[in-house]
Amino acid sequence: MQEITKSTMEFFIKDQEASVEKNLQDILFALNQSAIVAITDRTGKITFANDKFIEVSQYSLDELLGKPQNIVNSAYHSKEFFKNLWKTIGNGEVWRGDIRNRKKDGSFYWVDTTIVPFLNEKGIPYQYVSIRYEITSRKRAEEVIRHLAYNDQLTDLPNRLYFRRKLSELVAHAEKNKKEFCLVKFNIDRLRYINDSLGYEMGDYVLSVVALRLKEMLPVDNILARLSGDEFAFILKDFGNEMKVSTMIKEIQEYIQQPIDIKGQQYALSSSVGVAYYPKHAREASELSTKAEKALLEMKERGGGGFQVYEPGSAKKSIERMFLENELRKSIRFGHFSLDYQPKFSIATGKITGVEALVRWDHPDLGRIPPNQFIEIAEETRMINVLGEWVLREACRQASEWEQKGFHYSMAVNVSAIQLEDPDFLETLEGILREEGNRPDLLELELTESFFGDQGELQEVIIDIRKLGVKIAIDDFGTGYSSFSYIKELPVDTLKIDRAFIRDLDGGKENSAIVEAILSVAKTVGLNVVAEGIEEEEQLQVLKDLGCEKGQGYYFSKPTLASECESFMTVNI
Ligand code: C2E
Ligand code: MG
Ligand code: MG
Repeated sequence: MQEITKSTMEFFIKDQEASVEKNLQDILFALNQSAIVAITDRTGKITFANDKFIEVSQYSLDELLGKPQNIVNSAYHSKEFFKNLWKTIGNGEVWRGDIRNRKKDGSFYWVDTTIVPFLNEKGIPYQYVSIRYEITSRKRAEEVIRHLAYNDQLTDLPNRLYFRRKLSELVAHAEKNKKEFCLVKFNIDRLRYINDSLGYEMGDYVLSVVALRLKEMLPVDNILARLSGDEFAFILKDFGNEMKVSTMIKEIQEYIQQPIDIKGQQYALSSSVGVAYYPKHAREASELSTKAEKALLEMKERGGGGFQVYEPGSAKKSIERMFLENELRKSIRFGHFSLDYQPKFSIATGKITGVEALVRWDHPDLGRIPPNQFIEIAEETRMINVLGEWVLREACRQASEWEQKGFHYSMAVNVSAIQLEDPDFLETLEGILREEGNRPDLLELELTESFFGDQGELQEVIIDIRKLGVKIAIDDFGTGYSSFSYIKELPVDTLKIDRAFIRDLDGGKENSAIVEAILSVAKTVGLNVVAEGIEEEEQLQVLKDLGCEKGQGYYFSKPTLASECESFMTVNI
C-alpha cells in the first residue's frame, strides 16, 4: 500500500513538474505575442529581450543585450520620475506606470509597464523583469480627447476647464515659491453687435483674429485661454511692477484695436480688462478669478474700452448698483424724471444760440440723482431706450412750445449708442418730430465720440438721421478714439470740445494748442464748434481770441429750468 502510494506520488509530482513547465512555456508564448518582455540585472543592463521588444524597439538582440535599459529612453519623463521608479523597485516593490520610449529610428511609443523585482535570499533585488504593453494608439486617442476637452474649437486656445486647472496649479506653485502673478480677464466690447449685424460667422472670425493678436502680444509660455463667448484670460508671471502691467495691457488693447477688415469695412474693437493680483487680492484660485471678473464688470459698467484693477469694496458697490437698478426701473414706470436745459451762447455776442436738454432723476426718497450715476445703468439694462424716448419727446415738446412763441433756437438732446442700435430708433424719432410739430433742423442729437471710433456700422443710422434734417454733434470731443485725421469723414455738424481742454485754458499752453488745432480743422471742414464747461472769464477770453464761436458752461449758466432759459431768449429779441 505504501509502495503504491510512493510511486503514485512520484508519478504525480513528475506529472505536475511537466505540466508546470508546460504551463510556463505557454504563458511565455502568450506573453511574447502581446507583451514586450525584458530582464535587466541589478544595475539595469539588459540580459534578456523577447521578440516583441526587438520588433517594437527596432534594435537587434545584439544591440540590446548588455546595454543599459535606458537605451530606449525618450527624454520625455523627468529625472524625478525615474528616481521614483528606481526607488520603488530597489526596495523590492513592483512598479507600474506609463512610459514613453523611443525606437531606434527616433519615433516614440508608449508602454504600460510593470516591473517586478526578483530578490535574493537577503531580500536584495538581483534582477528585474519588465512586462510592457504598447499603448501608443490609446495614448494618442487620450491626447485627442484631452485636447478636445481642454481646448476651444474655434481659436484652438485652452478653454475654461484647462485655465481653471492651470490657475490652481499656479497658485500652489506661487504659494510654495513665494511668487506673485497677475490674472487678467479680457473681454471684447459689444461683440454681440457684430454677431447681430454681420452674422455669427463674422463674429467667429473676429474672435479668431483677437485670439491670434493676444497670442502674438503675450510671451510664448504664457497661459492664454478663451473662457467663454467673448472672454479671454491670461496670466502675467514675473510682471515686474503694477505700472509695467498697466503699460503692457494698454499696448495689448491698442493692438487689438487695430482695424479688422470685414467685407471691405474696417472695424476697430474696443476691449475691457479686469485685473487681480496674487497674493495681494486673493490667495485662492477661485477667489482671484472672481475678483478679476468683478474688476472687468466694473470696467464694462463704466462703458468699457479700458482696464480696471480689482478694488476692495466692489462687492458693496454692486449691492448699491442692484438697488439703483431696481429704483430706476420703478422710476421709469412712474415718471420720476425731468429735464433741465443748459443754454449755449455765441462767444462773440453773448447771445443765446440754443439749449441742451439734460435729464434729471428726481427720486421720491433719495432726492435728485445726477445722470452720471444712472445713465450707464440705464444703458446696460437697455432701460435707456424707454428713458431716452421720453427725454426726446419732452425736449421736442418744449422746443415746439418755444417755436410757437417765436423762439427758434436749437434744442440738443443727448443720445446713447444703445438707443441708436435699436432698429426702431429712426421711426420713433420721425414720429416724435411729426407729433410734436418740430422743425427738424432745430433738433441736434449729441453723441459721444466713441460712437465714431468703434461703431462704424452706426454711421449708417447717423446718415439716415441727418437725411431727416436733424443735426448731429460729437459730445466730449477729444476724449475718445476718433483722431483728428478723420474728423472730415464723419457725418456730423458740430464738435463739442470736452471741458477737460477748456478747464486749463488759462494756464496750459498745451491745451490751448489742442483747442486751436480742433478749431482750425473744424473750420476747414466747415463744422460748428462749441466749447463745453466754460467757468472763467479768462477761459472765455482765450476762446474768443482763438475764434471759437459758441460756448456753454457755468460762466454763462448752469443747467436750469425751461423758464430761466426762456428769459435768456426774451433778452435776445
Ligand atoms: P454732457 O452731455 O457732456 O453734459 C454736460 C455736463 O457737464 C452736464 O452734466 C452739465 O451740468 C455739466 N456742465 C456744464 N457746464 C459745466 C461747467 O461749466 N463746469 C462743470 N464742472 N460742469 C459743467 P450733467 O447734467 O450731470 O450730465 C452729465 C452727462 O450725462 C452728460 O454730459 C451726458 O453725457 C449725460 N446725459 C445727461 N442727460 C442725458 C440724456 O438725456 N440722455 C443720455 N443718453 N445722456 C445724458
Ligand atoms: Mg451733451
Ligand atoms: Mg459733454
